[in-house]
Amino acid sequence: MSKALAGKVAAITGGASGIGLASLEAMLAAGARVVLIDRDEAAVMAIAEQQGDAVIPLVIDLLDPQRCAQMVPQILEKAGQLDIFHANAGMYVGGDLVDAEPDAIDRMLNLNINVVMKNVRDVLPHMIARGTGDIIVTSSLAAHFPTPWEPVYASSKWAIDCFVQTTRRQVFKHGIRMGAVSPGPVITALLADWPAEKLQEAKESGSLIEASEVADVILFMLTRPRGVTIRDVVMLPTNFDL
Ligand code: NAD
Repeated sequence: MSKALAGKVAAITGGASGIGLASLEAMLAAGARVVLIDRDEAAVMAIAEQQGDAVIPLVIDLLDPQRCAQMVPQILEKAGQLDIFHANAGMYVGGDLVDAEPDAIDRMLNLNINVVMKNVRDVLPHMIARGTGDIIVTSSLAAHFPTPWEPVYASSKWAIDCFVQTTRRQVFKHGIRMGAVSPGPVITALLADWPAEKLQEAKESGSLIEASEVADVILFMLTRPRGVTIRDVVMLPTNFDL
C-alpha cells in the first residue's frame, strides 16, 4: 500500500473499538502516526503495545469537561503537530422517546454533539496557524434518513451533520478540509444497544457492513488532492427501503 499519510499525525477519538479502531489501522497502514484517544484504558494500552511507536495513547473520558479541554494540548505535547482529526467517539440511545432515560439523553447529546464541537473548536487554532488540516466526523445514515425508531440518536447526528456543513464553509479559507462519513449499520459493539428487532432486520436484509469499509471511505476522503473536500459520504445500503 502507498504511504499516502507518511509524515502526518492523526488523532482519533473513540479509537479503541469499532470504526475508530478500523480508522486507526487504516491510517497506520498509510504511514501516519496516530494519537489514540479513548476512555477504555485497557483497550488503549493493549492497542498501543500491539502497534508500537506509531500509536500514541491518550486515555480520556471525553464526558469529563476538564479532561476534554486537555485533549488538544496533550495531543500537541505528545505528537508535536496535528494534521488529521477524526471526531468519532459517540454513543447510541435507541427506541421510543418515552423510554429514553433523561440521563442517557444528556450523556449521548453531550458526547455526540457538544464534545465534537468543543474538540473541533480546540483543534482549529493549530490547524489555522499551519494553514492546513483535515477533519472527519463520524455521522450516521440516520442523519440523512431520520429513523423514527431512534429519534434521540438521529437528532444528534442530524445536528452534528449541520455542524460539519456550516463549519466546513468557515474553515476552507484556512486550507482546512472538513467532511462527514455517514454509515448505516456497522458491525461494532454499539449495535448491542440497538433494538433487537431492528438488528434482526438489518441482518436479514444484508445491510450490515464491517468497520474496515468505513475506514476505506475515510482514507479515500483524506487522500484526495488538497483542492478537493469530500463533503459527506453516505453509505446507503443498496436494499435500504426509502
Ligand atoms: P464502538 O462502541 O465500537 O466504539 C466507540 C468507542 O468510543 C469505544 O472505544 C468507547 O470506549 C469510546 N467512547 C465512548 N464514550 C467515550 C467517552 N466518553 N470518552 C472517550 N471515549 C469514549 O462504536 P462504533 O460503532 O465504532 O461507533 C463509533 C462512531 O460511529 C459513533 O459516533 C457512532 O455513532 C457512529 N456510527 C456507528 C454506526 C454503527 O452501526 N456501529 C453507524 C453509524 C455511525
